[in-house]
Amino acid sequence: MSAILWLCRDFRFDDNAALAAALADGPVLPVFVLDAATRAQGSASRWRLGRALAAFDAAWRARTGEHITVLEGEAAELLPDLATRLGARRIHQNDWPAPAQQQVQAALRHVLGEGPVRLHLHPGHLLVHPSRIRTGTGGSYKVYTPFARAVRQAGADRPLPAPGRLTALPAGGDLRAGGLNLAPDMFRGAAVLAGHALPAGEAAALDRLDDFFDRARDYPAHRDRPDIDATSGLSEHLAFGEISPRRIWATARLRAEVEPALEAGAGKFLAELLWREFAWHLLLAFPQMPEAPWRPEWAAFPWAGENAAATAWTRAGTGIALVDAGLREMRVTGRMHNRVRMVVASWLTKHLLTDWRIGLRHFEDSLTDWDPAANAMNWQWVAGCGPDASPFFRIFNPEKQAETFDPQGRYRHYWLQGEGALAYAATLPAAWNSPAGWVEADSAPLLADGRARALAALATFNRGT
Ligand code: FAD
Repeated sequence: MSAILWLCRDFRFDDNAALAAALADGPVLPVFVLDAATRAQGSASRWRLGRALAAFDAAWRARTGEHITVLEGEAAELLPDLATRLGARRIHQNDWPAPAQQQVQAALRHVLGEGPVRLHLHPGHLLVHPSRIRTGTGGSYKVYTPFARAVRQAGADRPLPAPGRLTALPAGGDLRAGGLNLAPDMFRGAAVLAGHALPAGEAAALDRLDDFFDRARDYPAHRDRPDIDATSGLSEHLAFGEISPRRIWATARLRAEVEPALEAGAGKFLAELLWREFAWHLLLAFPQMPEAPWRPEWAAFPWAGENAAATAWTRAGTGIALVDAGLREMRVTGRMHNRVRMVVASWLTKHLLTDWRIGLRHFEDSLTDWDPAANAMNWQWVAGCGPDASPFFRIFNPEKQAETFDPQGRYRHYWLQGEGALAYAATLPAAWNSPAGWVEADSAPLLADGRARALAALATFNRGT
């Protein structure tokens, strides 16, 4: 017998339950299906997916001598025939519980029906299987702190070792992963991102994790500083499953045990990883989270829709140094520091009173670490409409944030005047550079009275609800 390993967001050998199960069935064919849901993803994320596939293809080839297979179309139409041709009885996938993927899985299950071929989903995208983390009444958690406590008490599931021996089926079809350019239509051109890309793939992810422990001691003090390389930079790898959260958890616990000086840093780092876990817990409970406010009364908040100031925001032209620096960083590299993401999002939703979904979609199109759960939870958190959100009246003053977290102005200087500014200028389409196309808001009045304006909007809204 043979088996199909249906790749999704699990481009790794380590802690890969679907791969282990497929190998137990016989020779394995890893298949990625480039479907409509994937094509609808944001451009930076699609571009990064192409790199994840290429890196996994190279690693698979190095171990087995074979390519992975990439098919274009819908899994429900392609995989049943493929399984029949190969004589495979099982299609294994590591579950990526994003709503779009769940629909794709359901469509495949429907076609497979009661026939001989079965789809098996395996856990590994999260620390703990969601069914194990329930409140006393059997519901899902809505507040981070008790949720995090429950996960710590349950204990993260143990990671599986990478398989020792691989037996692979020869790749079929013409589309080889190495040559895929999944985002040729990207607005900024994949070349820009490529010039600033971090290494992709499992080996790079494991190196990055290892490397992080050289800096972990300072993580609690420096993690909010965009001018210091203090965080792990693992989010991109996590988004594509090049490393599993269970491996990160186990490694951090072990390192802290061996080196007690790392304990505080590792603890804070794992608390952040639990925010990722919480985001997925919320998305599973409320799949509409990317589109609808968690708290339904917020559907009536009078957010502004598309507007000129919001367009200036998407083009990094707000005139607010820290906000524009962050948006430039994202445009050029596909990344943005977490503290700056919060400031940028606060400016859009509070000072500009603009609908958080406009920002969410811009991030979705621009981030190489785009994650449907983390992006939606954080946007709702900043906008104040999420379940355990920062209250709307907590409005960041971007200048104070800049003084505190970029005290020497290094981060802002890099993106507004330094090399980063040049890289950003190179991404600008001609239309933006024309007098009609360039938008830069005059933000001085907003800095002065934006907070009061936002609070007044909140007061009116509260009176009406
Ligand atoms: P580290 O500080 O090293 O943290 C380790 C890991 O913990 C991260 O890799 C990430 O998986 C997780 N984590 C850390 N902070 C958060 C958080 N606030 N929420 C959820 N998980 C967290 N993260 C994404 O991965 N994808 C997104 O699409 C995304 N969108 C965001 C949108 C907004 C408006 C905001 C404010 C935050 C968003 N984040 C998102 C969360 C956070 O900014 C990134 O996870 C973090 O910057 C990644 O850098 P790092 O890996 O160096 O983090």
